[in-house]
Amino acid sequence: MTRERIGIFGGTFDPPHVGHLILAAEAQDQLRLDRLLWVLTPDPPHKQDQSISPLAIRMKLLMAAIGDNPSFELCRVDMDRPGPHYAVDTVKILKEQYPSAEFFYLIGGDSLHDLPTWFQPRRLIELIDGLGVMRRPGDQVDLRNLEQKISGLSAKICFIEAPLLEISARQIRQRIAAGRAYRYYVPPAVFRLIEELKLYRQPFSSAIADSDV
Ligand code: ATP
Repeated sequence: MTRERIGIFGGTFDPPHVGHLILAAEAQDQLRLDRLLWVLTPDPPHKQDQSISPLAIRMKLLMAAIGDNPSFELCRVDMDRPGPHYAVDTVKILKEQYPSAEFFYLIGGDSLHDLPTWFQPRRLIELIDGLGVMRRPGDQVDLRNLEQKISGLSAKICFIEAPLLEISARQIRQRIAAGRAYRYYVPPAVFRLIEELKLYRQPFSSAIADSDV
């Protein structure tokens, strides 16, 4: 029996943008993933110094982004447990939930560069079957250096072929706040929601609170 191949794509998704969707869809195609779990991180350990939109808003935005693709699923694993939400723990929990599946963790090249600073990166690499990496403009990926810090890493890496996309959530938030064009950097349903809820005009003015999740 062939094992189910599951992708795990974690992020803040504030907001989800076409860079995320292209990464996810290319990874799904190139790594032959049966489905892809979008793990929304409530409170990312590496973004403690930034203001992040309330979880309820990010969940609505993420559902708007992925809701029309039956092989994309919102995964509540990090939303339903107290932090800190380390990727290694997320993977352990998902492996318990799907004991016979193969797991592919998906990240951008900037996150690959930062991987040695994550909690227990070697353990994370041991637990997964593959690390799908989509390069990002300006990322600095030195595989030899990374392998020295996390042995076993290069054997697990699968680079995803895709155009380099100079798109980030931060840049989109800044564009909206400055009244600049941003419409086609996000999926249409995300654009409609941002307009309807008047998000990102000024920091986190919205009627939706975390208690609504
Ligand atoms: P922010 O600008 O707020 O830091 P972001 O656009 O980097 O956000 P995240 O939710 O932090 O989005 O990213 C989730 C994952 O998606 C990370 O692994 C990140 O490297 C990857 N990613 C985001 N945008 C791109 C892109 N344009 N190309 C490749 N990977 C990307």
